[in-house]
Amino acid sequence: MRAQTAGRRIAIGGFSHESNSFAPSQDVGLNHFLRRRDRPPLLLGDQMLDELSTGSFPTTGFLQAIGQEHALVPLAWASGGAGGMVSDEAFEHVCGALLSRLTEAPLPDAIYLELHGAMATPSLDDPEAELLRRVREVVGEDLPIAVTLDYHANLSPAFARMIDGAVVYRTYPHVDRVACGKIAAALIHRLLAHGRSAGVAIAHSPFLIPLHAQCTLDGPSQRIAGQSLADAGEVVSRCYAAGFPLNDRHWCGPAIMVHADTQKAADGACGHLYSRLMDEARNFDAALWPVNAAVKEAIQRCRAPGDGPILLADVQDNPGAGAGSNTTSLLAELVRAKAEDALLGILCDGQAAAVAHAAGQGATIEVNLGQPAFAGRFLVERLGSGRLMSTGTVAGGLQLDLGPMALLRTGGTRIAVSSARMQAFDPAPFHHLGADRAQAAILALKSTCHFRADFAPLARGILLVEAPGDAPADPSGYPYSRLRPGVQRTPR
Ligand SMILES: [Zn+2]
Repeated sequence: MRAQTAGRRIAIGGFSHESNSFAPSQDVGLNHFLRRRDRPPLLLGDQMLDELSTGSFPTTGFLQAIGQEHALVPLAWASGGAGGMVSDEAFEHVCGALLSRLTEAPLPDAIYLELHGAMATPSLDDPEAELLRRVREVVGEDLPIAVTLDYHANLSPAFARMIDGAVVYRTYPHVDRVACGKIAAALIHRLLAHGRSAGVAIAHSPFLIPLHAQCTLDGPSQRIAGQSLADAGEVVSRCYAAGFPLNDRHWCGPAIMVHADTQKAADGACGHLYSRLMDEARNFDAALWPVNAAVKEAIQRCRAPGDGPILLADVQDNPGAGAGSNTTSLLAELVRAKAEDALLGILCDGQAAAVAHAAGQGATIEVNLGQPAFAGRFLVERLGSGRLMSTGTVAGGLQLDLGPMALLRTGGTRIAVSSARMQAFDPAPFHHLGADRAQAAILALKSTCHFRADFAPLARGILLVEAPGDAPADPSGYPYSRLRPGVQRTPR
C-alpha cells in the first residue's frame, strides 16, 4: 500500500458506467458492481490503493504520478464497464459509499474522480452531474475538482461548472487511460497552486456521431481528438468528447469543454476547437457491410495471396456498447457460406459453456447457441475456467473472471464462448482457449473499434458488419425521450 505522506490532502474516487438506455435486457443492478468480472468489484477506502496501483485504469496512472508528498484520501471506486441502465439502488449505493467517506474525512484540498460520462439511471437525466452536486454539497464551492472521462462522455453545462479541469481520453480504441490519469495528476498539481478555474465553456455539435465513425486511428476523429490538451497558458484543460449516442439524456452528443483561468480564455479555446469539429462534419464515414456481403467478401479476400486474417467487426453486438454479445447472424452466415477457417468471439452463453464443460473436451454436443438460437452440433475443442489475465493494450494487466469458457467448432468455424460478457479487444481470452488470433483466416469480433488496437496490426483487411444487435449503429432509430430537440442523428 502507498505510504501516506504529509502534504496536501487529495481525495480520490471513481464511478463509471457506459449505459445503453435502449438495451433493457442488459440493465445492471447493485450485484453487478459487487462482483469481479472483467474488472475489480466496488473498492472501498484503501482497497483502491491496493487494487489500482497497477493495471490500466486512469486511477492507476493518477496514483503513479501524483507523488508521495501528498496524503491521499481514497473514497470509493466502482467501474461497471458497459451495459444497460444502472439501477437507482446501485447508483445510490456507490454514491453513498463515496460520499460517506468524504463526509467523515477532514476536508481535502482537492478531489480527483475517475468518471465515464455516459451513465444512465431510470430516475436521473445526468447521473454524473448529480454525483458532483452531492460532492459539492459536502465540500463546498471553494476546492478544486479534476476528473478523467471516457472519450464517449456526454457532457452537460451543469457538470462542466462543478469541475475545474478534465482529461478526456484522446483515443478510441482507448489506449491512453493510464496516460490520462497521469495528466489528471498534473492537473491537480496546477489546481492546488492556482485554485478553482474561473472560466468554463462548453459547446455541443448539432449532430450525433455513430460509434463506429468515432475511431481516432485516422480521419476526422483523430484530427479533433488530437487537439485536446491540458495546461497550456491560461487554459487548464481543453477536451473533445465524441459522446455515446445510445445514452438517452438531454446533452447527448459530441462536445467541446474548456476550463481556463479566465472566461475569455475558455471561450476562445472552446470556439476554436468547436469550429474544427464543425469543419469536419462531412468527413465522418459511417458505411457498414450487410452480413452476407461481408462474409462473401471476406472469403474471397482470403483466397487472394496475402498474410493475416480478414477482420469482421460485429459492431452492433458489441458488449462495450451495452449489447448482449450473443447474437448469431454472423455465425450463421459464416457456417452457411462454408467459411473454412473462421474464429468468432466472444459469444456470451453461459448455458452452452456449462453443457460443454459437462460433456468434456473432445466431446460433441448439441446446443442452441446464442440469440436467435443457432441450433447445431459442436465439437468441444477446448475448455477454460475463464479466469485469466488480460494482456492487450486497451485494458491489459487485469485479473478477469469470464466464467466457464469453451471453444466450440462447427464446420470450419470455431466459436469462443464465455459465461460473462467481454468485448473482443484483448487476445488473452482467445489464447486462454488455445486459439491464436493470427492463425485464423477470418476473425469475427464482437467489438466496434477497440479490437483495432491489438487485432488490426496483423489483419489484411477490416469490414464493419451490420448484423442485428442491441447496439444499432445508426442513431436515427433510437427512441430518445430525453435528447434535446433539433439534434441531427448523423453528422452529414
Ligand atoms: Zn468509451
